[in-house]
Amino acid sequence: MVKDQARMATGAATPSGYFGVKILDLARKLAQWSELPDGLSCTYFSVAHKAVATQLRDWMRSAGLDAKIDAVGNVVGRYASSIAGAKSLIVGSHYDTVVDAGQFDGRLGILTGLVVAEHLQLTGQRLPFHLDVVGFAEEEGVRFGAPYIGSAAVAGCFDESIFQRSDADGVSFAALAGEQGIDLAAIGALARRPQTLRGYLEVHIEQGPVLLQRELPLGIVTSIAGSARFRITVHGTAGHAGTVPMALRHDAAAAAAEIVLAVERRCAHGSTLVGTVGQLDVPHGAINVIAGACEFSLDIRAGDDATRDAAIADIFAALKDITERRGVTARITEIGRHAAVPCAPRMQSALAQAVARAGIEPFHLASGAGHDAAMFAGVTDIGMLFVRCGNGGISHSPLETVTAEDADLAARVLLDVLVNLD
Ligand SMILES: [Zn+2]
Repeated sequence: MVKDQARMATGAATPSGYFGVKILDLARKLAQWSELPDGLSCTYFSVAHKAVATQLRDWMRSAGLDAKIDAVGNVVGRYASSIAGAKSLIVGSHYDTVVDAGQFDGRLGILTGLVVAEHLQLTGQRLPFHLDVVGFAEEEGVRFGAPYIGSAAVAGCFDESIFQRSDADGVSFAALAGEQGIDLAAIGALARRPQTLRGYLEVHIEQGPVLLQRELPLGIVTSIAGSARFRITVHGTAGHAGTVPMALRHDAAAAAAEIVLAVERRCAHGSTLVGTVGQLDVPHGAINVIAGACEFSLDIRAGDDATRDAAIADIFAALKDITERRGVTARITEIGRHAAVPCAPRMQSALAQAVARAGIEPFHLASGAGHDAAMFAGVTDIGMLFVRCGNGGISHSPLETVTAEDADLAARVLLDVLVNLD
């Protein structure tokens, strides 16, 4: 009997592969609601977005959860503990998408939580904490340029300045809030008090090639990378492309090119460090004119802030050398900086033990992308489980894939963690 219970606890009572097949089927169904005729786009409070919320709520109710859609559009389903006054453990991720998205970014985590909660309900297992499966309404920041609207509200760090923002059609968040009946008091009421939380877990597609390359289905996230973003403008001297000798030029584009390569070289050192120049422009440039100015973006991320800041210092020292040598100047504007968020060691070890029990080598990696989990870092213990991303690790694209086998393993590991956490 005891042995049977242990088997059931880790999902052995459910036919092998059942969770994974179901998760992929539900993700495909959710992807039918889209703002694009041929492709997936589901941005905050669009018609498609509201349809997805309603569907998630209905599936949660069918699974036996007490489910509702909250003031900012999060779908929250509770599988209640039998213990009075129990704390809650949130298993969440987001259901909004980028434009022309894949089916699994965010949704994989919600659906994994859903099938696991349904399994607990069907097998009559109660946990020592309430299990709250949450589909966050907004993480990508597509509509208002402000990410994490849903998770920030629940974590108690909602940024009121979002009310001043407008979308591409000129609709302000304030106007949308009025139309949807969202007010600040209702948003404030969504904030969970830290003492009521047992933890936060998120299953997410890796969105990169590391697990694929290591031939591992799952990975345990150590931290969510911190980032720093800059806009840099190099000012040189414009001139005639035919008449100014090479030795006498102060070419802003050539200086920028050298800086881009310095970024690439410096960020090649360090396992979690990455540096990207994703935008590069010669304002008013022409084919027969030496570039008088060159503007570019710089995005630096690392698993810890010291690594990131050391790289930034070296890159700016190189930039100073390059601009001085070339007789050009540079203006640097910092446009954002976010601290790295470590995952709780206790959650990492609970996940690693469950991964090992599933017969998989526990492999730890940092997340280069931001996730809803980051909002909860100062509030409760957070843990994240990455699932292998197929097709070379492509995400934010219709080419994003996850296999049913990997999704199944993720669900079994999540179930194991929940059952064995306390
Ligand atoms: Zn995501």
